[in-house]
Amino acid sequence: MSKVRTRFAPSPTGRMHVGNLRTALYEFLIAKHEGGDFILRIEDTDRERYVEGAVDIIYRTLESTGLIHDEGPDKDKGYGPYIQSERQASGIYLKYAKQLIEQGDAYYCFCDKERLESLKTKVEEGADKEITVYDKHCLSLSKEEVEANLAAGKPYVIRFNMPTEGTTTFVDEIYGEITVENKELDDIILIKSDGYPTYNFANVIDDHLQEITHVVRGNEYISSSPKYQRIYDAFGWESPKYVHLPLITDENHKKLSKRSGHSSYEDLLEQGFVSEAIVNYIALLGWSPEDNKEIFTLDELIKEFDYHKVNKSPSVFDIVKLKWMNGEY
Ligand code: GLU
Ligand code: ZN
Repeated sequence: MSKVRTRFAPSPTGRMHVGNLRTALYEFLIAKHEGGDFILRIEDTDRERYVEGAVDIIYRTLESTGLIHDEGPDKDKGYGPYIQSERQASGIYLKYAKQLIEQGDAYYCFCDKERLESLKTKVEEGADKEITVYDKHCLSLSKEEVEANLAAGKPYVIRFNMPTEGTTTFVDEIYGEITVENKELDDIILIKSDGYPTYNFANVIDDHLQEITHVVRGNEYISSSPKYQRIYDAFGWESPKYVHLPLITDENHKKLSKRSGHSSYEDLLEQGFVSEAIVNYIALLGWSPEDNKEIFTLDELIKEFDYHKVNKSPSVFDIVKLKWMNGEY
């Protein structure tokens, strides 16, 4: 079996949400349990969501919780993380997108805002949220038309050409097999008009190139996973194992949000909780050890953590429990 390699791949968008810290912790534990590598990758290609200072928050949080990553792009300069915006500058994502175009698995799309606007549909009758389901209009452009548009400097995106018939099956380690109808898969954008890859595309390329064996992430991503599967298949690459984690909710069973006042690691530090207690508590948000033991050091967690035992049902963040735990440190 190949060496276990996991990665924490945060987007620098603000404080470290408790859910993100749990993801980082589980990735770390999976790797260390098997004597593998834990990698840090900053996913900052979405320039609209980028928040100044958020990268430093990520570094500080990982350092103070002891989740130390193993390698970086240039070991001589220290074990720095991989930074996608820097990788993008070398043209790496575009190169792979062009390979897909050659194969017929992706295509240039020159549609303007107005046209895309006209494709918007309501998610449900009467709902506020709108989605754009792309109609493959630009797939029928001839090679000459594409060349002419490119030569004229027309802005474009590169889209994946999803199949419209049949089904796609994706296997999650916790939730099992998930099968979707291909006609529900949108022709997602791989490269945006600013030349940056979308988060989805860069994520797949890097997980492959960095030989990641296990991906841990929140289950808000589970519905995009069949699309990832399609991209892996188009390249003929084996996909990593996926471990989607249950939602973390507040006492009212709503998604743990900023409004709770304790949704981030920094909030908790500000309220006087110690790092060891926070890590200990977060480890148990979605995983239960055999013997109902509750107090763990990081080393003990490494020994006992088993991702196969991650729960499916949402975990309630219980501040009273955390207070108790904090008292034990
Ligand atoms: N950059 C994504 C995030 O911050 C990572 C998702 C993943 O781990 O695949 O949520
Ligand atoms: Zn188009």
